[in-house]
Amino acid sequence: MKNVIEKIFGTKHERDAKKMQPLVTEINEYFEKLKSLSDEELQTKTDEFKNRLAAGETLDDIMTEAFAVVKETCRRHLGQTWNVCDLPTEWNMVPFDVQLIGAIALHQGRITEMATGEGKTLVATMPTYLNALTGKGVHIVTVNDYLARRDREWMGKIYEYLGLTLGVIQNQMTNEERREMYKCDITFGTANEFGFDYLRDNMSQRAEDRVHRNFYYAIIDEVDSILIDEARTPLIISGQVESSVHDRYRQMRSTVDVLVRKQTMLVNDMLAKAEKLLASGNSDDGFEAGILLLAASRGAPKNKKLMKTLKETGMKRLATDVESAFMRDKKLHEIDDRLYFFIDEREHSIALTDKGTSLLSKDEQKLFEIPDISTMLAEVEGDTSLSPEERQQKTDEIYRVHSERSEKVHAINQLLRAYSLYEKDVEYVVQDSKVMIVDEFTGRILPGRRYSDGLHQAIEAKESVTIEAESQTLATITLQNYFRMYEKLAGMTGTAETEAQEFWDIYKLDVMVIPTNMPVIRADNNDQIFRTRREKYKAIIDEINEKHNKGQPVLVGTISVDVSETLSRMLKRAGIPHNVLNAKQHQREAEIVVRAGEQGSVTIATNMAGRGTDIRLGEGVVERGGLHIIGTERHEARRIDRQLRGRSGRQGDPGSSIFFLSLEDDLMRLFGGERLGRVMDRLGVQEGEVITHKMVTKAIERAQKKIEAQNFAIRKHTLEYDDVMNVQRSWIYERRLEALERESIKDEVVDLIEEVLDELIDTYCPEKAYPENWNLTGFIDELRKIYLLTLQFKEEDIPSLTREKLKEQVHGAIMHIYSQKEMAYGEEIMRQLERYAVLSTIDRHWRDHLAEMDELRTGIGLRAYHGGMGKPIDIYKREAFRMLEELSTTIDREIVNLVYKLQISMPEKSRAERRREQEAVASHADTTGMGYASAVQAPAGAPQEKNPMAEASQAGKQERTYRRKYPKVGRNDPCPCGSGKKYKKCHGAGE
Ligand code: ADP
Ligand code: MG
Repeated sequence: MKNVIEKIFGTKHERDAKKMQPLVTEINEYFEKLKSLSDEELQTKTDEFKNRLAAGETLDDIMTEAFAVVKETCRRHLGQTWNVCDLPTEWNMVPFDVQLIGAIALHQGRITEMATGEGKTLVATMPTYLNALTGKGVHIVTVNDYLARRDREWMGKIYEYLGLTLGVIQNQMTNEERREMYKCDITFGTANEFGFDYLRDNMSQRAEDRVHRNFYYAIIDEVDSILIDEARTPLIISGQVESSVHDRYRQMRSTVDVLVRKQTMLVNDMLAKAEKLLASGNSDDGFEAGILLLAASRGAPKNKKLMKTLKETGMKRLATDVESAFMRDKKLHEIDDRLYFFIDEREHSIALTDKGTSLLSKDEQKLFEIPDISTMLAEVEGDTSLSPEERQQKTDEIYRVHSERSEKVHAINQLLRAYSLYEKDVEYVVQDSKVMIVDEFTGRILPGRRYSDGLHQAIEAKESVTIEAESQTLATITLQNYFRMYEKLAGMTGTAETEAQEFWDIYKLDVMVIPTNMPVIRADNNDQIFRTRREKYKAIIDEINEKHNKGQPVLVGTISVDVSETLSRMLKRAGIPHNVLNAKQHQREAEIVVRAGEQGSVTIATNMAGRGTDIRLGEGVVERGGLHIIGTERHEARRIDRQLRGRSGRQGDPGSSIFFLSLEDDLMRLFGGERLGRVMDRLGVQEGEVITHKMVTKAIERAQKKIEAQNFAIRKHTLEYDDVMNVQRSWIYERRLEALERESIKDEVVDLIEEVLDELIDTYCPEKAYPENWNLTGFIDELRKIYLLTLQFKEEDIPSLTREKLKEQVHGAIMHIYSQKEMAYGEEIMRQLERYAVLSTIDRHWRDHLAEMDELRTGIGLRAYHGGMGKPIDIYKREAFRMLEELSTTIDREIVNLVYKLQISMPEKSRAERRREQEAVASHADTTGMGYASAVQAPAGAPQEKNPMAEASQAGKQERTYRRKYPKVGRNDPCPCGSGKKYKKCHGAGE
């Protein structure tokens, strides 16, 4: 049906392209007219456009003219040579019509999918020039520092000819250099640099230290890599904290050791039994064997013996059939009950069973009972015999025990994960007594990066190396929320279409597939599938050898450094010269990859290595069939496989591609294995034989789609949580920025002084109570602490007090103290002091708040697992809102208190604080999506939409009424509770 419609009306992309055709014609007409202009006349076009914009024309109005000006500029530079990353490069490009279409799509804020080698770098110059005319700054985002510099130097002459200024951010630059770069009309840099600069800006102590200007328009190159792959983990700036958390992992290690050893024995036993049963040939025995196999695979998925057994004909299928049967009857837990702990690799979940718990000592067992906070709190609440102080004490105790035990359970789970799912030399390596992560996508080692959420400490405990201190998050943001700040966003890549849904859902970015300038004639061959890795590698080497002998260049794509090195060793033995690229040194690798198309060259590269570099065919290569691509394993995402194939066949070049797979590959093992095993059985494939079959390729694609969807769900989930944080972050950052930038924040401080007083009166002298019943002692105590005010009341005056009189009297007194201080110190110092009070208070509490939010998230995963309290995300939102409310109150009080308390010498930062700042490290860590796993798979209880405000007041802060704590939230702004609703429709509804 879809095909019929497409035949009649064309695809959406073809229709879009058709709609743009008149614009292309217009650009080319202007372009013809521009030829007669002198250089000076052409160059004055920039000012002319700026003036026309100032006079009210829009960017859309002048688009076609502006694009024509860029095109003509390109034409005038033909044959000129300049240095690009130290290599003399001749300019040979004038945009083709398809490139104009791509440029229009970018200006419209879309993603243009254009194949590798179609010239996307050039495409971006047109929308960049146009949008830079506003003076608001255009950001061009690349995947690495080298490409940022390359693009700036390669395209630089074109922009500079037209009078625009250019900047490029490089990792090692100072703040001053960065600020200059951001002032330019166009700034090149990586997503990480842009994002970290934003976070650092919001940690700076002086307005002049900030580097960013606007978030106006960004064009993201290799957009799938940045907004999808890199966006799986947030950017984090952290400093180290001293704490005893890592002791926990050391302490629990021996416990887990025992558990894992017992489990291994158990699983081996199961496998031996299964073998015997299977030998009997009886069908009942067969089913029981299947149960044992399934139990073994849930107990130790990476067990060597198990993996070997499952490879045998029909075994995988047997286990899956049993699994389906048990899942259908919702009896999977019966399988798990046979184990000490179970692991669900697909769901990323892990948990101790009763059998496992019983292995712990009685004392240990108690430590694993996580108390149900809500009932316990209710009990305390209902116990009328308690005094308020006792009640507070009990409540604190409940929270303490809860958090301590949650952390213990968390530590054990992470250790089990570390033992069962993280293999040394695959997921990580140990070098110089340090555990270092191996990037799953590029296969390179990531020095300095750590798994989050205690997993890294767990692996360190497992490997018996020093457990490094956990660091505290000082600032964090997801790439999703960073890029959503831009007024307009656009992206380009060779592979976006498979992820179009996600681009739309998350970023509201539409994908437009642009036809190639020349038809693609690359031959994509069917997959070759082997039973074992060994056979597969052997076939790959044979294939390379054959092509190499013909002189045809070969590019081999791998999914890890490990595989690259294995192949490299095998090639050496076979005497075939080759290069290995691991995406470590971008510039050097780019220089190598440039030559990957030359006769007889053999290049092995991980996925991101040399990406963005144009591979041209060398002499005599066209006759030999062009560049031949060999894939050595299917990637989780189809996109990455397409990306690899796309390295060949640029601009109508000949070329070919082929993938070699084996049933031992992770992807096959996890998702496609059982189906493939069945297919192979049916086809009667024998050991050592290779199969190529459409059906198999289809099955793999289905598996990939399944994983893509699952990874999307995980990213969406991460984002759901960050969205809550995002509202809070913008609120805090805005408040902070105001303190930073405004000449004087005296007004705000004076307001705060009064607001805090109002709140004290509300708390200690509630309207409903008689003055005799007010807690005046408490009130006086607070006044002394916060405002340094000593106040006394005569017993006989108390009954006649009113709240109004009280406020008037106290307010007069505290304002008097304030004015006295201002007079003594002078206006200027007083203003500095106020600024310092606001910044330091916000920073300190925001930091703690981040940690609490982290704990909250971990805790919620566990709690949700232990019983229904509504959807985890809803609990999270509710709690987060309550915490923000508290944070806001605490911050206000402390600011006021500091303003009163601070002495002249204080505005200097404390030494500890300074040291902490210097030690802060920026990291874009790999969480492997495990951090949120428990929340992901938590049973979706009835999602109750409770009113968090009612909850908060119910939670027992006595008569404290909810007060306006969000001075900066406009009625139409999103509500700080993260509900996604407008403030006036949510918590601002009553105002
Ligand atoms: P992509 O980023 O789309 O993979 P690049 O921007 O790296 O491609 O460009 C690849 C190559 O394509 C350039 O080095 C250039 O040789 C060629 N190219 C692109 N556009 C043109 C053009 N309009 N005319 C001639 N060659 C072009
Ligand atoms: Mg490119």
